[in-house]
Order: sequence, then C-alpha cells, then structure tokens
Amino acid sequence: MKAVLDHIGIAVSDLPAALAFYRDALGLEVEAPEEVASQRVRAHFLAVGGSSLELLEATAADSPIAKYVEKRGPGLHHIPLRVDNVHQAVDQLRSRGIRMIDETPRPGAEGSTIAFIHPSATHGVLVELKQAGVGARHMVVPTMSRVQRFTIGDLELMSVDDGFFGLDGGAMFGIVPKTLWSKKEPPDERNRITLAMRPLVVRGARTMLIDAGIGDKENDKFNDIYGVNRRRTLDHTLAEAGLSAEDIDVVVATHLHFDHAGGFTVRGADGRVRPRFPRAQYIVRRGEFEDATHPHARNRGSYFADNYIPLVDAGVLQMVDEDVTIMPGVKVRRTGGHTMHHQMIAIESGGKTAAFPADLLPTASHLGDAWIMGFDLHPVDTLAAKQRFLADAVARNTLVFFEHDRQVAAAYIREQNGARVVEPAMGA
Ligand SMILES: [Zn+2]
Ligand SMILES: [Zn+2]
Repeated sequence: MKAVLDHIGIAVSDLPAALAFYRDALGLEVEAPEEVASQRVRAHFLAVGGSSLELLEATAADSPIAKYVEKRGPGLHHIPLRVDNVHQAVDQLRSRGIRMIDETPRPGAEGSTIAFIHPSATHGVLVELKQAGVGARHMVVPTMSRVQRFTIGDLELMSVDDGFFGLDGGAMFGIVPKTLWSKKEPPDERNRITLAMRPLVVRGARTMLIDAGIGDKENDKFNDIYGVNRRRTLDHTLAEAGLSAEDIDVVVATHLHFDHAGGFTVRGADGRVRPRFPRAQYIVRRGEFEDATHPHARNRGSYFADNYIPLVDAGVLQMVDEDVTIMPGVKVRRTGGHTMHHQMIAIESGGKTAAFPADLLPTASHLGDAWIMGFDLHPVDTLAAKQRFLADAVARNTLVFFEHDRQVAAAYIREQNGARVVEPAMGA
C-alpha cells in the first residue's frame, strides 16, 4: 500500500490563541476556514511545504472535536494518509486482522472516501485513510450552485452545470496583467482560476441543451492538470431540473472544445464511446467541425475526437452553415474570435431577449474590452464581436448567461458612468 501524508489534524480549544501561535509566531499562512456542518467543526488549513496542518475548532458542544478536547485536552487529533484506493486498503488491513473504526469506507468531505483505523491498532494515534475526490483540494470551491430557472416569453431557460475546472489565469485574460485579474479571480498555487461549466437547457417546442460540460471520459492525469471538480455533474443538475438524458431532443454546440463538448458522449461498459443523449440530434457549425477534425499545433490540445466523431458514427450529427433558427425563438449566430466558427445562441420570445455567448464572454470578469482570453485564435475579432454584443445586450435588456463564471450564472449588463457592470439575475 502506498500512503502519503495528507495533513495533520490538531484539535484546538482556543482558536485565536492557536492562530496567534501558528499564524503569527510561526508565520504560517492560513487559508479561509472550511465548515464541516455534519461534524460541527470548522477547519483552518495552514500550508507547511507539501502538506498542511489543520486546526480543528468545534462549532457546537456536541461536536466530536469538543468531546475530544473535553476528554484529552487540545492536541494532535488525527493523521490522514492519502491512498489510491481506500476500499483496497481497508480489505488489506482487515485481512491482517487490523481493527478498524470503519469496517467499510464512507463518504468524507469534498468528495473524498475515508475510513478510520482504530487507535488500538495504530499505537494510540487516530489514523484516517483517505481517497481524494476528483478535484484539487486547494482550489477555491465556490458555494454550492443550484439550477436557476428563467422565463423568456414562451421559453423556459434553466442554467445547469457540470461542475468546475481550472485554467491558467494568465491564459484566461490574455494581455491583462496578473495584478489586475488576480483581484477578480484569485489563482490557486498552480496559477489556475476556478471556472464553472454551465450548459443551458431551453424548453420550448423542443427540449434543447446548449453545450454539455466536460463529461467523464478523461483520466486522472487530465483531471489533475485541469483541476476538474465534478462533485456535482450535469447528471445531477439535469435531475434537479426534472430532466433525464432521454428528455433532450436537441443538443447545440457553441464550439467543440473539450470543456463544452466532453459531455456530448459517454464511454459504455463495453469501452465504446456513444452519444450521451440517446434521442438527441446534435447541431454543430460545419466550419467548427472541420477545424476540430483538422487541428493544428495551436488548438490541438482543445479538441478530442471522442467528443464528436462517435456522433457522426451514430448518424446524429447535423451541420449548420448559416445563422439559422434551431427552434422557435432560438437562433445560432457566428461570433468568430475564440475559434473561427464559434457561435453564440440568441434567444427571443414575447418581446424579451436572452443570450448564451459562451466563450465570447466566458465570465463576468471578461466585460472589459481588453479582457480577452489568450486562448482566442482571433482576439481582434473577439473584441469587435464582444463590443457589438455588449452594446446590444445593454440596449435590449438581455439576460446574459455566463458559461464559465464560478459565481454568476446569469446577469443583465448595465452601463454606469461609462463603465459596464453586471447585475446578477437570480432565477427562480
Ligand atoms: Zn473554448
Ligand atoms: Zn470554454
């Protein structure tokens, strides 16, 4: 069994006094606290090289930490060891007669799976085996989002999500200096900022899904590089919206980058990749499909054939060449810029408008003219398309959906004293 020290848990009874030592006297950096409601405990992490110390503070008298401190006083509480497969690790220990507190592993915080070993077997130390959840621990984990519903005339719009991932903050803001963007989007220790993946459901004459997130076909290395955090996925959020994969009639791709098209397909038990939405027609811009199937050195890393070739094989891929109406009130419109044939979705019904600009305006932090992704193949085209889009969105009071914003799913764009600002819209 390969086990790596994850961190060291220390029970404290007087948090300010503990911080006065660990933070002020020792000079360690303390992260924002995490509350574990089920354990009635608040955890403060302090980085120490490759590991960290966790100060555990009880938030209620019946918290296990409060009981521990009452019995033994403050001090070393537990040592979590990270293992690749906690089920295997527990089996191995049990076969050697090691006494466990948890005979079978159970869910822990942040998508992890854990099992405690009895202190009688560990020579007096409480040892926790921990299999990390998918998702980097140090990424800023946004508060749990929920499905937000909006009505635009005859259409119902539901912002769903496929979790979060991370991209290099510098690449996300192009020429904008880090001193500016890091104030809006704090990077993690690998300089990544947290991005959501928020497909949009449009219910009208048909049930449409715009983009589908990153999906689950990639391996651990990919999930680590991109800080993929899918503790809640498109499956969960569609269910929350009262939908299943079978309900989707049509899937529209803004473009075929993996964070938008990864969820178009799934790998079946037989190892073969097939369309994720069994009844759906998939709509892709022909030029984008051509680019995705003929990538070059600059865009190759974003296009994975498994996300769209199986759609061709299944006969469910439909190409569009023009700005066409997909169903009443819903139109695709080429923006270019990010990719030559990137398209946004314009929605209009009952005199109201909404828009899904996708990577033309990935987050609310991209409103400023120069705030354009370094990933964009044609940034000057992005600038022109963005200026047009924003002027129109302000004039028409358009409800704008941000596909990648970690906090704001939808907002109105206002102009105040010559500057554009975002007024978040909370759906029902
Ligand atoms: Zn993209
Ligand atoms: Zn994207």
